[in-house]
Amino acid sequence: MRLQKYLAHAGLASRRKSEDYILQGRVAVNGEIITSLGTKVGPGDQVTFDGKPVDLQEEKVYYLLNKPAGYVTTSSDEKGRKTVLDLVPQEKRVYPVGRLDFNTTGLLILTNDGDFTYAMTHPSHEVEKCYRVTVQGRLEEKDLLPLKKGIHFHGESYAPAKFARVLPGKSQSQFDLTIHEGKNHQVKKMCQAIGFSVKKLHRLSLDNLDLKGLDLGQYRKLTPEEVKELK
Ligand code: URA
Repeated sequence: MRLQKYLAHAGLASRRKSEDYILQGRVAVNGEIITSLGTKVGPGDQVTFDGKPVDLQEEKVYYLLNKPAGYVTTSSDEKGRKTVLDLVPQEKRVYPVGRLDFNTTGLLILTNDGDFTYAMTHPSHEVEKCYRVTVQGRLEEKDLLPLKKGIHFHGESYAPAKFARVLPGKSQSQFDLTIHEGKNHQVKKMCQAIGFSVKKLHRLSLDNLDLKGLDLGQYRKLTPEEVKELK
């Protein structure tokens, strides 16, 4: 974009005033004073005003996605599989907050706010996530007790689940599980530790957020209030 537009976008001054600053020789691009109004700048350029950096404050966006199965949560995939980034608008470079496995479905936030991501994924933040787990075989309530006590499995420890309960029904193969950690394949490992393998995994909620009104593959923006509450 043109330099004066860049300066205005970054909140330095109006575009008109920014033009004045350029003509006054107060603006440099990559260390070189620029006095021509036609100059264009791109993402890698370092812009300064009176010697101080002027950075674009990118508007922050937060998408709440109901992730379908068959999507990776990385921005690209060496096997060419589809990524969740294909399911949300592309005009801002967003990335997922935490990970869901390829076939896991459910609640996933995507954002371009690094501080938010850090806060949400930092263990000290203890954000609660609730999963609906479908396992191979029949579960008894007592099978879930170790999950509520905390588990050591294959050299990793998993904190006690806040909640674990078998869903009523004929199959007795589903339960809801609330945990506050986000370790690699955590739910599958916890289930493996109690002798069950996971057939299906769906994240129902995260903190106060759920997927009401969103079908698989659909997303919505978080409201500023929701973002503030999560932070
Ligand atoms: N735990 C898992 O094992 N997989 C997920 O996708 C999320 C939590």
